[in-house]
Amino acid sequence: MSAHTAPPSKKKRKSIEEDSIPTPEFTKLDHINLTSHSGTFGVDPIPVSWGHPDPLVRGPVICTVRHSSQRNAIGAHSGSYCVYTGLAVAAGKLNPEYVPNLKLTSPVFDIGPHSSWYDPKKIASIDPFGHLTTDVYSSYLNKGFDIRPTIAITKAHIDLPETREAVQSGRLKPDGKVLLPSGQSIVSKAAIEPVWYLPEIARRFGCTETTLRQSIFQMTNGMYPELITRPDIKIFLPPIGGLTIYIWGDPDTIPDEDIELTCRVHDECNGSDVFGSDICTCRPYLTHAIEECIKTAQRGGAGLVIYFRKEGRSLGEVTKYLVYNTRKRQEGGDSAENYFACTEQVAGVQDTRFQALMPDPLHFLGVTKIHNFISMSDMKYNAIVNTGIEIVNRVEIPKELVPDDAQVEITAKVFHGYNAGEAYQGIDEDELKKTVGREYAYDKPEGGENADGNRGNVVQD
Ligand SMILES: [Zn+2]
Repeated sequence: MSAHTAPPSKKKRKSIEEDSIPTPEFTKLDHINLTSHSGTFGVDPIPVSWGHPDPLVRGPVICTVRHSSQRNAIGAHSGSYCVYTGLAVAAGKLNPEYVPNLKLTSPVFDIGPHSSWYDPKKIASIDPFGHLTTDVYSSYLNKGFDIRPTIAITKAHIDLPETREAVQSGRLKPDGKVLLPSGQSIVSKAAIEPVWYLPEIARRFGCTETTLRQSIFQMTNGMYPELITRPDIKIFLPPIGGLTIYIWGDPDTIPDEDIELTCRVHDECNGSDVFGSDICTCRPYLTHAIEECIKTAQRGGAGLVIYFRKEGRSLGEVTKYLVYNTRKRQEGGDSAENYFACTEQVAGVQDTRFQALMPDPLHFLGVTKIHNFISMSDMKYNAIVNTGIEIVNRVEIPKELVPDDAQVEITAKVFHGYNAGEAYQGIDEDELKKTVGREYAYDKPEGGENADGNRGNVVQD
């Protein structure tokens, strides 16, 4: 090999890289620039080639307020919390020109790279280099650019009463590695902010990119004019909740199809997940999944829970509680038969979770095969399988974990095609009609006959 064709040394390569990176322009934040005015926003955006395997060719996602002419993404960092950043600046607590010190923030374990990272059909709602900012974009950071990670990776010990109970009753056996005698389990975890590549998001929703941009612009009351004025800028950091990945066992085994992987994809339900409300199966299903994840990790595999901030089927908690009231107050009380109709009556739609983007974090982790999928949802199953991931077993929630008042939910779901396994086979119209929930004396004075939550005519089988 001649001297001319030898690859440059790492140091030389780094300096070539830095030479090709423009000097950052810093926006003065002492006056307001309207992003709808040409000449004030995105005059010279850093190019992005979504899906390119070389992170420098792919380009960093630049979405802070510091580089308005070089910014290449619409939206803001931190999802819905971006508004609090505005409050902090308004309150005089945060200097808007502050650039984070990322020195000690890098991931505590590795994820990727995987070939799925370079396929927009597999990843279009996450930046797969989002945790590697300080590594792959160090040359930009060295030049003074404000580029922020959209993924953070750390470890934790978690302590759940259901896991302790499983240890006490002998269902789980502490091994001192995955599960401690105290009932604490040891997890690796990642928090992920949404980063959308709009052309692929549109494809997955079966609409044009223009329709997608117009719909979001309209339904947010014009929150981001660039969605309309800058069709050349394809990246959008939407002001919505992100997701968290929890892993039990060695994360390195996740892409290995020969090593057992147990997985639950869970959509946030604060009332049940955190506060133990018994109207649905969310927390029991989640803690059951965690138990199965721990067992899988103890067998040498890995357990995975992906927790999406999609409260109330992504309709939000206010809508959800309005639906609860409708369910309980309707003629005949809460019933499996009218379960979905009540949501539609209040919100105009049954569900806005749309699982089309859900498999992305699985592809981020390099998942190609799930041995045990802890979910009864056909929508989730189909969304995952349709992106080329194999699912071997679907694991239902054990019947004894379904709260009485949640019989309405599970019966309605199974009647409409969910797979809840052996225990919930053959739910017919009759079963659907006779499954009803607890009655509340919502409209009776305090201390009324049902105010203590006595069950109404709950049908159990
Ligand atoms: Zn729930």
